[in-house]
Amino acid sequence: MREQLVTSATQTYGGVSRCASITIHETANPGIGADAQAHANLQANGNVRQASWHITVDDAEAIRSYPDTARCWHAGTKGADSIAVEICVNADGDYDKAFKNAAAVVADLRAAHGLGRSAVVQHNHWTGKNCPSTMRAAERWQEFLKLTDPQEAHMQTMVSPFEGRLTANHHTAGGYAGHRGMDIAPPKPGQTGCPVYAAFAGVVRRIYRTAAHGNRNSTWAPQRTGNGMLISNPDGEGNGYNHVRPVGGLKVGDKVAAGELIGYNDSSGNQSGPHLHFEMWSDWEDPFSDYNPRLAFDAHHVRPGSAPAIDVVPVAVITPTTKPKPKPSTGGNTRADNTAIQTALTEMGINVGRQDGVDGDLMKAGVKVFQRAHGLKDDGVWGAKTQAVFDLNERIQKALKSKGYTKQIVDGFLGAQSVANIKDYQRRNGLFVDGIAGDKTRKSLGL
Ligand SMILES: [Zn+2]
Ligand SMILES: [Zn+2]
Repeated sequence: MREQLVTSATQTYGGVSRCASITIHETANPGIGADAQAHANLQANGNVRQASWHITVDDAEAIRSYPDTARCWHAGTKGADSIAVEICVNADGDYDKAFKNAAAVVADLRAAHGLGRSAVVQHNHWTGKNCPSTMRAAERWQEFLKLTDPQEAHMQTMVSPFEGRLTANHHTAGGYAGHRGMDIAPPKPGQTGCPVYAAFAGVVRRIYRTAAHGNRNSTWAPQRTGNGMLISNPDGEGNGYNHVRPVGGLKVGDKVAAGELIGYNDSSGNQSGPHLHFEMWSDWEDPFSDYNPRLAFDAHHVRPGSAPAIDVVPVAVITPTTKPKPKPSTGGNTRADNTAIQTALTEMGINVGRQDGVDGDLMKAGVKVFQRAHGLKDDGVWGAKTQAVFDLNERIQKALKSKGYTKQIVDGFLGAQSVANIKDYQRRNGLFVDGIAGDKTRKSLGL
């Protein structure tokens, strides 16, 4: 950043700023040549009446006019302890570049002053003025904020929280007024009891379990109805889940992993039909910092309503208690054996082509999919070890079913639903919650 400091303090409130926040402005000057240099010159020459700001950014550079500790005239006395960044909107400049340059400047300021995302505000925040107007009109504020985050904050994954159909958007994206989230209805209209997964890793901050159907009163956050929870993410954002019966034992302070089963959709609260109401907050402590969840889905290439793609956790210790079905380990499977394997893989949803008993390329590829998903050596040969894992998986799924977990299919493949149910079972039974059916969990399941 270049410095072209204003030597006089007459255009400031005086004193030393606490640098408590950063305020984003746009110059609102579309004139040709109204770039950072032109604005820095205006300030240096004392040509700006009743206004001062710290830094001006355009598509090529950033110029500092005042030190961060100056209390500038940019957002009234309320904003006196805030660092002002002006983004140029000159017609001969590239706004998108200026936008990104400004975000980089703000990222440095945040690091220098130890400021979180919630400390970055719009001029609008202080005075209600429509500034920064270009960014506001384009709904790029959340994108801007994300660009100011430390890099490591983005090292997180997102999992689709609910399978079904997108039925209502956030109010900024075409949803009805006051709708602060995105609605996803279950695959079949009217279904309740469908699993809801944590979209991001985080910590449970609010939880509510006793809302009745049709209850229009607020529950865990103002204006939100029904059961559910709020989870804070490592980057300071929050996710809200409504019309959700939390899984037993889940409580405030619990850590959850992305993709962890956190509850089941229910009929609680104000709803015309069962759905998950999902919210994204840019600041988990501010219930009104909600933004269009679509932005998060898009950023993580997750389609709203897609089946949750959870990393399948391999079964820990494979010690089969019964002899594997007679299927030799290398190339010696009978045609009937191969047909049985093909049928089993097809039931798991793995494409192996025709179930003709011929151990061709498609079948080998299918066997590999199964092997990789369960931490086995992926040689494409359905041998004794692969069979043993398959058998054990079936027994685990059957045992879960006998314990009331009816949603996982007994297909020998420990997919997202099975793992989520194992976790839920572990949570309810005081076991270590990792989704792996290890010794203790299997013993508890009677295996
Ligand atoms: Zn402004
Ligand atoms: Zn909703």
